[in-house]
Amino acid sequence: MPHNCFETRDARRETRGKSVVASEYLLESRVSSLESADDVPHDACGIFGVSDHPDAARLTYLGLYALQHRGEESAGIVASDGERLHGHREMGLVSDVFDEEEIRKLPGRSAIGHVRYSTTGSSLLKNAQPILVTYARGSIAIGHNGNLINAMALRRELESSGSIFQTTTDSEIIVHLIARSSQRSLEDALVESLKRIKGAFSLVLLTEDRLIGVRDPNGFRPLCLGRLGDAMMLASETCAFDLVEAEFVREVEPGEIVVIDKQGLRSLKPFGPPTPSHCIFEHVYFARPDSRIFGENVHRVRERLGRQLAREHPVAADIVMPIPDSGNSAALGYSYESKIPFESGMIRNHYIGRTFIQPSQFVRDFSVKVKFNPLREVLEGRRVVVVDDSIVRGTTCRARVKSLRRAGAKEIHMRISCPPILYPCFYGIDFPTKDELIASTHTIEEVRKFLGVDTLGFLSVEGLLGAVTGPKQSYCTACFTGDYPIAFDKEQDKYALEQRIGSTGQGSRELRGQSVVAEASATTGRMARAGLGHD
Ligand code: SF4
Repeated sequence: MPHNCFETRDARRETRGKSVVASEYLLESRVSSLESADDVPHDACGIFGVSDHPDAARLTYLGLYALQHRGEESAGIVASDGERLHGHREMGLVSDVFDEEEIRKLPGRSAIGHVRYSTTGSSLLKNAQPILVTYARGSIAIGHNGNLINAMALRRELESSGSIFQTTTDSEIIVHLIARSSQRSLEDALVESLKRIKGAFSLVLLTEDRLIGVRDPNGFRPLCLGRLGDAMMLASETCAFDLVEAEFVREVEPGEIVVIDKQGLRSLKPFGPPTPSHCIFEHVYFARPDSRIFGENVHRVRERLGRQLAREHPVAADIVMPIPDSGNSAALGYSYESKIPFESGMIRNHYIGRTFIQPSQFVRDFSVKVKFNPLREVLEGRRVVVVDDSIVRGTTCRARVKSLRRAGAKEIHMRISCPPILYPCFYGIDFPTKDELIASTHTIEEVRKFLGVDTLGFLSVEGLLGAVTGPKQSYCTACFTGDYPIAFDKEQDKYALEQRIGSTGQGSRELRGQSVVAEASATTGRMARAGLGHD
């Protein structure tokens, strides 16, 4: 039976961490409840690993720093000194969780790290990763980016045969499967276990003597291989290699397992021919523009999205401006194609900490204003094309439009560099439910009126797929098309594992209650750090 090796240092820190009948009235009535929601799509996580480097934990810390955008709720590192695994994880940003003293407590030449945004299980310390356990073969740590779609069924099966889970995440299921395997070697046990799970999983695993990277047969989430001298590295995105001055070697292929130990690197492909379904939303929004994923640079893809957007939705205007920073590359592309000058109409404040004042008492739309300040000198009397990457609920976008109007913009033409998001994601991106996705429940004209813009244009699915260079069938577009590449369990949402536990008794209901409170608190923290974020 796996045993969780982490200790909870301080419990208090756990909390840190087309429309049918839609009318304008209905839209308006939703605003008050949604304006306080966290109107930002979140990625599942960022993972990093390094093998055979004298400063493995410190390199992992730096790698996680570069991957911080993939998860802000918790961070953790596990290092191997060759005989034992040592771990530390807490709620909060990488810079909050680790200091020199904590890094010194993680000796050894190999390490893995994880930054988390929760897509299965609440934002609690017990759900932070890497998960580190001891079992019959020794110790193993795992960091997971993605979502398992058969987690409920597997967990039910494992519990009914005696497994005791420490977390409410889907990732722990993988550890239990490995621990219970009757295969003699770790690699065989891993392969046997991975063949039972379905969904999106890019993984880093660490044992006393090896680092392992895994990418699911669909390759939903990225995973890259790098080198620094003799040290090999794994990272969700190549921007992590740039920071530590490592060289990008190649991507781990969909369906590939790479085992790195003293003998070097071995590649296993036990799943048969891969069926790639790369998450195209990584290119639209999640990945950093300076990263290379799915075979190409993210900034260049976004620029092409912007060019195509200009071709599909031209308009007479004086300037093109992005919603910074996620709209920057697409806005540049729109400007190049339309020959309308690019200007910065909003300045982003990157230094946002938590505030103890309740600002709404003094300032309307505080969370939007604190993050973005419109430039009156640029906007006054101008016809403005505003380029953003996506619209989820629409509430943040609407607040930004209001602030652009207040700054004197004469016309606002909103252009979105992806199609309308109509369906939820089951592969590791935390979109709200279908009912909360504004484009899913309202017509484009209703969304335009709600946002308060003069015109609104979304990129077409064809335009989106035309901007990436891989074969069209090798990308997942399910949140735009409803065409899900692998079937999913409809009853499984982010809290499904907790709800199932919760249905069995009072104690469990309390667990769920704690989780919700912690989640709300973590969300508040995120909002305070980042304003309402991007929409
Ligand atoms: S549904 Fe959308 S967000 Fe989810 S994996 Fe597919 S493209 Fe990405």
